[in-house]
This record gives sequence, structure tokens and C-alpha cells, in this order.
Amino acid sequence: MKITVIGSGYVGLVTGTCLAETGYHVCCLDVDPRKIEILQNGGIPIFEPGLEDMVKRNVAAGRLHFTTDVAESVAFGDVQFIAVGTPPDEDGSADLQYVLAAARSIARHMTDYRVVVDKSTVPVGTADKVRAAIAEELAARGADIPFSVVSNPEFLKEGAAIDDFMRPDRVVIGVDDERAAEIMARLYKPFQRNHERVLLMDVRSAELTKYAANAMLATRISFMNELANLAETMGADIEQVRLGMGSDPRIGYHFLYPGVGYGGSCFPKDVKALVQTAKENGHTLRVLTAVEKANEVQKLRLVEKVVARFGEDLSGRRFALWGLAFKPNTDDMREAPSRVVVEELARRGAKVTAFDPVATHEAQRVMGGIAGLSFADDMMGALDGADALLIVTEWKMFRAPDFNRIRNSLKQPLIFDGRNMYDPAWLREQGFEYHAIGR
Ligand code: NAD
Repeated sequence: MKITVIGSGYVGLVTGTCLAETGYHVCCLDVDPRKIEILQNGGIPIFEPGLEDMVKRNVAAGRLHFTTDVAESVAFGDVQFIAVGTPPDEDGSADLQYVLAAARSIARHMTDYRVVVDKSTVPVGTADKVRAAIAEELAARGADIPFSVVSNPEFLKEGAAIDDFMRPDRVVIGVDDERAAEIMARLYKPFQRNHERVLLMDVRSAELTKYAANAMLATRISFMNELANLAETMGADIEQVRLGMGSDPRIGYHFLYPGVGYGGSCFPKDVKALVQTAKENGHTLRVLTAVEKANEVQKLRLVEKVVARFGEDLSGRRFALWGLAFKPNTDDMREAPSRVVVEELARRGAKVTAFDPVATHEAQRVMGGIAGLSFADDMMGALDGADALLIVTEWKMFRAPDFNRIRNSLKQPLIFDGRNMYDPAWLREQGFEYHAIGR
């Protein structure tokens, strides 16, 4: 079986490379010539642990190649994965223009049967739109070529993407015809390990499953953030509460971490898109609407604490900020809470010196224009003479820093911790003023 992946971003590149790793021959296509050039020259355009080595290994083995040539990529794969972006439209709904453009480009070039797989996160009903777009292009060519459209949403997490893809909890495949079902089940056989992980279902259920999963995770985060804010007022410690809750197996420990809100390329846009899909179909998703609202408010939480300590006017102040990426182990800055934190500090006249182990380059691209924002090359270098340290992303390297150096570098021993990384009692014993979330 030969495979084409359309879109060589976080999802497409990981999908294509992991499929090649199991022995398939894979062609990755992108419309961005810069990305393809980097890949053809042996680099990778994103940061994802372990990916670069895996790409190199599979290119060297002749199983993986990259192109901008649509005709070539359509001719190559029996299965054509669509893994392009689905950014939010103005009303919050998912913008399907890239998905539909990819579908049409397949239809313009295909000469025999193709399985077209929606790997991108797309609203319920998108497979029908993809099918209609392909049929229309084929009709315009006067071509009568069979094809199937499949929904195969991706559940990988940036930062752990390779492991997630190679050892998935489940593979959801939404399919309406036998031929495609058989091909997709065979395609995922190498990822089954010791038991069947493929969940075959109808296309619409598969499409909704992806949104349901992300919406649930976002809900847990917003729920905990609201409780954290309450705990703070009531003199409780949300971290103790978290342990007390999580030990109930019906609740579990995952995704109960309070902080400065969720970000990234998925939760914010997928929650908005699901709310919008519901609205278009006559439903109001009240819980999810609140989840989104609570998250917007939470992104301001750390700055509110800074303002409570220093006052509204922060001119003349400089803050060190650790962590820019929306979460550890990625350089992804899409909807990162750090962007709101920096903008809100800058708006009040403060200067910010930021450090992130991998996202600085991407942060310079998306936040470079913010007045007073500079970037440090190392975490301790960011601190020199700053009024306080703010922690926004919980990189492992921040877990056990040299607190003596922090104390000696800052103007005063003052930490605003948006990720609850440290023990408040111990830090206070060490002479630090420590503000965290919900404790
Ligand atoms: P991305 O922006 O990193 O990559 C998308 C790529 O598609 C870009 O390189 C772009 O140039 C390319 N592209 C756009 N139109 C094209 C076309 N017509 N032909 C060829 N290439 C084209 O996006 P991503 O983070 O990989 O996300 C892709 C999809 O997967 C989205 O729907 C997203 O919601 C979903 N998803 C993302 C994640 C994640 O963690 N990033 C996880 C699960 C699902």
C-alpha cells in the first residue's frame, strides 16, 4: 500500500513519517515550498521530539519523500490523507477551505480508485462536503472514477506525537463502505500491538468523536481553573483538592491541572467550532460556551496578580518570563497563554524578558512586534534585575532551578507561578514571596 499525506505540518509530517517507519512508502505534499525545501534538505520545519531522526531514517531507507507537486502526490498514494489546517473562521466555525482545496486537487488528478481520508479535525458533515467536491471536479472532467471518503481524526499530542501515533490508545475510523473499511483496517494493522485498537464507526460519529474528546479535556481544565480561583479566596489549596479528587477512579488524575488557561492549535478552536456547529443546528451548548469564557478569563489571572502587587501602571517595571510555548515539548505558539500575558504586561508599560528552550524563534515571529519584549538565551539570564519571575509554561527544566541564583538575580525574591510548579510553604521558608494558582 502506498500513501500520500497532504499537508506536512504537525499532524501530516508525524502521520507520514510514522507510517513510513512501519514499512509503507509515503509521499508528503505541502503547498508551502519553504517547508518542503527544509524537508528535502534533511531538516524539519517544526520542533517535535524524535521526529527529525525518524524522518532522516525513513528518507534514507527510500520510504519517505516530500514534494510540492500535486499531480505526483495524487498518482502516488492509494490512500490520500488530508492533514491540512482547519483554522477558526470569524464566527468560530472551522474554515474548511484548505480541506476542500486538497480534496479538489485529488479529484483533478486521480486516474483510478482512491481512498480520501479526512485526518484534519473537521465538523460533522465535512465528509459529505469532501465527497461532493470530489464528485463535482470529476464530473467537470467527465471522469467516472470510484473513490471513498473516510474520517480518521487524529488524537496525537504535540510533544509526544510519535509515541501517540505509534502506540495509539485508539484509532477511530469512520467509514460508510466495505472497500474503504477493509483498506483502512489493513493500513492500521501495524499499530495494533497486542489487541485491536481500531474503532470502526459511521463517518459522522467519527467526526464528532474528535470534538467530543477535545471538548471534554478543555472542560476539565476550565472546571479546575474556576475551582482554583475559588480555593484561593476560601483559603484552600487546589493542589490538595486535585489529589483528593483525582484519586477517585471515576474522575482520575488526568487534565485536572489548574493554570493560566489552555491554548494551542486545538482546544480553543475546536471548542469554538463545536459550539458553532451546535448553533447552526439549533442547539446551544451552554457548558462549552462557559468553558471557553472561563478560559479567556483565566489567561488574565497571572497579570491580575501582578497588578494586585504592583498596581495598574507597570511602566518602569521589568519582568522575567519563563515559558512561551503553549505547553512543554513543543515550539507551537498558537493561542499560547504567554501571548496574552506578555501583551497585558506590555499594555501597562512593563518590559518583559522571556526565555523558552525551543519556542523563542517562533515567538519572535508571532510576538516580535510587542514593545518592550526581549528574549534571553538562557533561563537565568532572563532574571537579571527583573522585578519578578513569571512562569507560564511548565518545562521540566524549570522544576528544580537554583533558587539562590533566582533570589540573587531578581530585584526581590518574587515569583508568580502560573503552573503551580513549586511547594509554596518551602519557597516561603526560603524567603520568597510566591503567588501561584489556587493556593
Ligand atoms: P499545520 O498548520 O501545522 O499544518 C498544516 C499544513 O497544511 C501546512 O504546512 C500548510 O502549508 C499545509 N497545506 C494547507 N493547504 C494545503 C493544500 N491544499 N495542499 C497541501 N498542503 C496544504 O496544522 P496541524 O497542527 O498539523 O493541524 C492539521 C489538522 O490536524 C487540523 O485540523 C488540526 O485541528 C488537526 N489536529 C492537530 C493536532 C495538533 O496537535 N497539532 C492534533 C490533532 C489534530
